Order: sequence, then C-alpha cells, then structure tokens
Amino acid sequence: MSKKQSSIIVIGAGLAGVEAANQITKFGIRATLYEMRPSRKTAAHKTSGLAELVCSNSLKSASTENASGILKEEMKHLGSLVIEAAEASRVPAGKALAVDRDMFSDYITRKIQANNLIDLRREEVTNIPKKSITIVATGPLTSDALCAEICSLTKSEHLYFYDSISPIIDADTINRLKTFRGSRYDREDSGEGDYLNCPLSKNEYYQLVDGLLQGEKVETREFEKALYFQSCMPVEIMCERGRDTLRFGPLKPVGLTDPKTGKTPFAVLQLRTENKEETMYNMVGFQTKLRYPQQRTVFRKIPALERAEFLRYGSMHRNTYIDSPKLLEKDLSLSCRPTVFFAGQITGVEGYVESAATGIICGINASRKALGLKHIPIPRETSIGSLLEYISVPRKSGFQPMNINFGLFPKVEKEIGKEKKRKIIFQRAIRSMLGYDPYGQM
Ligand SMILES: Cc1cc2nc3c(=O)[nH]c(=O)nc-3n(C[C@H](O)[C@H](O)[C@H](O)COP(=O)(O)OP(=O)(O)OC[C@H]3O[C@@H](n4cnc5c(N)ncnc54)[C@H](O)[C@@H]3O)c2cc1C
Repeated sequence: MSKKQSSIIVIGAGLAGVEAANQITKFGIRATLYEMRPSRKTAAHKTSGLAELVCSNSLKSASTENASGILKEEMKHLGSLVIEAAEASRVPAGKALAVDRDMFSDYITRKIQANNLIDLRREEVTNIPKKSITIVATGPLTSDALCAEICSLTKSEHLYFYDSISPIIDADTINRLKTFRGSRYDREDSGEGDYLNCPLSKNEYYQLVDGLLQGEKVETREFEKALYFQSCMPVEIMCERGRDTLRFGPLKPVGLTDPKTGKTPFAVLQLRTENKEETMYNMVGFQTKLRYPQQRTVFRKIPALERAEFLRYGSMHRNTYIDSPKLLEKDLSLSCRPTVFFAGQITGVEGYVESAATGIICGINASRKALGLKHIPIPRETSIGSLLEYISVPRKSGFQPMNINFGLFPKVEKEIGKEKKRKIIFQRAIRSMLGYDPYGQM
C-alpha cells in the first residue's frame, strides 16, 4: 500500500457510511461514497435519502444514566454527523432522542453533498477494490452481489441470516433466590455449560403463556417469514400452536432437578451467561416479536425475573453480518486483506447509533492507515471501546449482534448500588474519551 493515500472508498451511505466519510474528510482525505439507492432498492428502505432510518424514529435514550446516552456523548466528542443531525431534527420524546426521520435524512444528505471532499456516487458496488483503502458499510440489507463478493473474500459460506435474538438481562437484577444452577442431567460435558435455571409452577407457567398470547406483536415483513421455518419460531407463535408447546420446547424441565424441592419443576427457563464477567444473561431459546414494553411486562411474570432489567430486547429481522471476532483486526480491517475495513451493522453491532459509532471509528482508523500513521485504539472503558471489544472476542455460543448496554463495559468491582455503578461507568468512559486523540500526530 502506498503511504499517504489521498482517497478512500466508502460503500453504503447509511448511518455508518456517512459518519465514516465525514471523518475521512476531517483528515483532509477525499472520500468516494457509493450508495445504490434509488436505482437498486432494499426490502426496508423507502427513500433515496442518505442515513434513512428504516424502522423506529428513535435513537434511544439521550440520558447518560443509560448506556446509549453515554455512547451519544462520546460520539459528540468525535464530531458525529448523525448526532448533529438528530439534534437538529429532534421531536419531543421524553429522555429519548427521537427525530423527524425525513428532516434527519435530509440534513445528512445536504451536509454530505455540500462537502467538497466527498464524491457521492449513486451506484451499486459489486466488487471490492483490490488496492484502494475501502470501507464496507452496506448494513443489514447488503445487496446480494456484494454479499457474494464478501463471502468469497472472507471465505465464509454465507453472510446473511435471519436474526432471531433472545432478550438479555442485567445479571444484577435476577432474583438468584428463585433460580438454581446446573446443566440438564448435570452433564458438565454436555456443551451446554452452566445455566441459571428459573423454575415455574403450573400456575406461573400458564400466566406466562397467557401474557405471551395477549401481548402486542411487531408486524412481520414478508421477507422475515422464512425465519419461522428455520427453527427460530417466536415463543408467542409457539404458544398459538398449543398452551403446552413451550413446555416441550424452550421451557422444557426434563433433566433438571430443583435442589429446593428435590423435584423436576413444571417448566424451566434457562439463562446462559453472555460474557466472561457474567454481567449479562440471555433467555435461552426465547426469540420473540413482542413489542419491547410488552416483553418487559410479560417476562417479568417469571418469578426469578420479577425485577429484571433488559439490556437488549428480543427481536427478529433479516440481518447481514460477518464473523468479526474471527475476521477483523482491532482497527476493523480484514486480517486477510488489510486495506478493507468494515463498519456498521455488518460488523455485528446492532442499532442505528451503534452502527454510526463504528462508522466514526472506522473512518478514523482507515484515514490513519491511509496517512501511514499507527492505529490508536479507542479506550476499552468507553462505550465505543466496549462495543469493539464485544465484536472482537470469539465465544462458544456463536457470534450474535449486540447493542450497547451496561453489561459490555468493564466491570465495576465495588459492591455499590446499580445507580452508583452506572455513574462510575459514565464518568470513567468520558474521562477515557477525553484522553483519546485520534487526530493527533497528523
Ligand atoms: C427491517 C429492519 C428494521 C430495523 N429497525 C431498527 C430500529 O427500529 N432501530 C434501530 O436502531 N435499528 C434498526 N434496524 C437496524 C438498522 O437498520 C441498523 O442499525 C442501521 O441502519 C445500520 O446502519 P448501517 O449504516 O450499518 O446500514 P444502513 O443504514 O442500512 O446503510 C447501508 C446502506 O448501504 C446501501 N447498500 C447496500 N448494499 C450496497 C451496495 N452493494 N452498493 C452500494 N450501496 C449499498 C444501502 O442502500 C444502505 O443505504 C433495523 C434493521 C432492519 C433490517
């Protein structure tokens, strides 16, 4: 690679791509930004605007008591175009940063078009250039031709998946007195690892089933229906097939004995840890399309989860992501071809803001490489550093997309309440971010 490359290619002008292009220009480097819409459409985008929000108009909490709020503060520090646009198009939504979606996208489109260092081209990219530094930011609905190219480059068999995500719970909010530890049939070598088991009595089980049946669901798009045929059926749909279906599926109690009673419970929900620090647990096999507030109400019917805080809610949609822990370096470049970087949802982060944040970092890292400067890792204590750590650590249970949440930050060891811990996490993140100067030594 030639040092001091004067142009970087960015493929995809969604949340991550626009941030990446914007950062590149801060280094005085030109960006060629490709966007395939409107000539080639996706199954979810409706306009030709850049950074279109395909579903909700909320960018989640703006409060720094929330992990997503901390992420936004860090992004502001790095001159985020997405946060700037969101503030300019904000609509009232309490502590959430919700936007007028058209104003938001127009603001970004105008800013990108007005930037003399950005050349916006409305074309689908089907091949990744061999030599030029390139950022792939084509998101969950990457076009088929480019998916095939990425598969061949990364030697992956397939790239897009129908994501079925089970909710994740803050470990501190599980009532341990109402759980018992152990694997089915006590098999330590079963490959199932250690579970936290949440027993349900007959009454509690049927109350949960009723809640699932009555809960309001997110509408299913045509292209998502294939999910149900891939053993990823939402729990509420299983309940529609019979009130006992869950007892023979994700809530089956066989092989589990509650040490308090010496008996097999009527039904059991298993929780499996998501990380080494055991700060997050996922509800095994509990993929769902219930609306988020309903998930909170219905899943709290499980006795051990009566006060559970959900770090990530369950969801199901088409997604495209690479196996980042195996394929990417810490700077988000491909190990097998270091001139190619990945940003946005395709790296395995989940959500508008998370995708935009990786776009910022990727833009910075690619620019530093183009200028022949060494990579400066973003501190682990920041929310962005925590997200990058998540997508770089291989795990036994397979790599699954993740949104920012308090469980991803380095643990606060002190025995203090949740609020105090979160305050420490916020202060530590901002302090670390202030010490991060990627624009230095230019
Ligand atoms: C159905 C659905 C609903 C969702 N709902 C939400 C939600 O409510 N809240 C939330 O936070 N997240 C949601 N997400 C996730 C959300 O889409 C992402 O978090 C975010 O948009 C990802 O940003 P990105 O920049 O990685 O991808 P995108 O924003 O999708 O941008 C990628 C861009 O690349 C373009 N592109 C694709 N292939 C090519 C190519 N070959 N050549 C040129 N251009 C190309 C696309 O047209 C697109 O503009 C949803 C996703 C889906 C699929």
